[in-house]
Amino acid sequence: MNKISKKLAAYFIISFLVLETMLMMYLHQNIVHTRIDEEYFRLLATGSNHRNVLIDHYSDETLTHIVLMEAEGDRGVIITGKEGDVIRSSDEKLEDILPSLSTLQNSLVQNDRIVKPEWEDSPYIISAHPYKIDKNNSGYVLMFQSTEPIERLVRKLNFHFGLAGGAIIVILFVIYSILSKFLTRPLIKMKEATEKLSEGKFDVSLPVGGNDELGELSIAIRKLANDLERMKKERNEFLASISHELSTPLTYMIGYLKVAMRHDLSEEERNHYLMIIAEESDRMKDLVKNLMDLAQMDEMTFVVSKMNFSTRKFAEDIYRLVEPSFALKNVNLDLIYKEDFQIHADPLRLEQIVLNLLDNALKYSNVNTTVEFEISKEQNRTVITVTDEGIGIPEEQIDMIFEKLFRIEKSRSRSFGGSGLGLAIVKELVEAHGGTIEVKSEMRKGSKFIVKL
Ligand code: ADP
Repeated sequence: MNKISKKLAAYFIISFLVLETMLMMYLHQNIVHTRIDEEYFRLLATGSNHRNVLIDHYSDETLTHIVLMEAEGDRGVIITGKEGDVIRSSDEKLEDILPSLSTLQNSLVQNDRIVKPEWEDSPYIISAHPYKIDKNNSGYVLMFQSTEPIERLVRKLNFHFGLAGGAIIVILFVIYSILSKFLTRPLIKMKEATEKLSEGKFDVSLPVGGNDELGELSIAIRKLANDLERMKKERNEFLASISHELSTPLTYMIGYLKVAMRHDLSEEERNHYLMIIAEESDRMKDLVKNLMDLAQMDEMTFVVSKMNFSTRKFAEDIYRLVEPSFALKNVNLDLIYKEDFQIHADPLRLEQIVLNLLDNALKYSNVNTTVEFEISKEQNRTVITVTDEGIGIPEEQIDMIFEKLFRIEKSRSRSFGGSGLGLAIVKELVEAHGGTIEVKSEMRKGSKFIVKL
């Protein structure tokens, strides 16, 4: 459940602890070494001072005076003679350490220096300061500094650093809880929302996030929920319309079939009813074919095979095909093209587009009006226009006529024989060609459909 937050916390805490430990170790070492360097420096300075006093005023009194000065506190002093023998010492215990200072016994120390620098495993750090008064009087002033204060400092440092480390871990956990609240809770909410969506429940409520990626993700999920809900509604409406579209002709057909089966009918009457049944069957066949076309287009399983062909031949073939139906209804069809040029398109699909538009133009035109079918070229694009002087389309419905099964005034449209799928197919085909379609229309004056490929 909280995997991200745990991972995040682990990475964050581990890297922080590594950094913190390195930093603390560096600081710790630095403080201790600075302190020890100070002790070395002080010990050397004091020892060399005592030695100089001893050289300048060598006497029993001076010796006693030096020892007295170091008798109290953490320091001590031993003054040795020519043979390494102890002349004076501030503390007898210090004399036990002397045998371990082999460098002194061999008189290897010629200058002031620290002869025992180790502080961790020794109770004292020791400096040696050679002196020579005359042939018989020479030796060392040995200064002892107890390592206890340094160890005290190290203990204190360890305690405080441990305290700081602990405090940092607590702070890290506080940061972790805040992070998990602000970062992972919205993620968990979004996960729950998507699970709800996959169960078909679209009423997801997500908190409005900020301008960051989480906020954008939340907006995207809410949009997805709205889109899915709309699509589900559209699908249900579409299914309801289809069943209605299919059941209406079927009801007619069954009704007329029953009438046609009656024995008391004349041959003429029976033929009339059979004609109606045949017409309704044709309508159903067209409807099912159109539905299948649309389903194919939705699934992108149909292919557009583009090729080059002549506009003149294309337009004239269509004109010859449809002109008789126009003449039958007494509608004038004008074919307009200024030049013959090559179109790059799928000829069969383009024919389907134009036939649909011309079919509508004829359906919704009154007698003794004119329909214009024009093909022209506009900046490398082919423009096909079908203009009629028919009933027109109400302005508020212009945007909807490309929707599947949409018909203006269903009952009247039905009397024109439409199914409401023609323009939806046209739009899909035009878009599959990478083109656009637009409509201009005025009620009772006519409509103009412009296809640009
Ligand atoms: P139909 O098969 O019903 O004509 P279409 O998808 O081709 O379906 O058209 C959708 C609706 O758009 C039609 O029902 C009709 O009301 C309107 N329409 C389409 N073309 C025209 C036109 N040229 N003049 C007026 N109305 C039109």
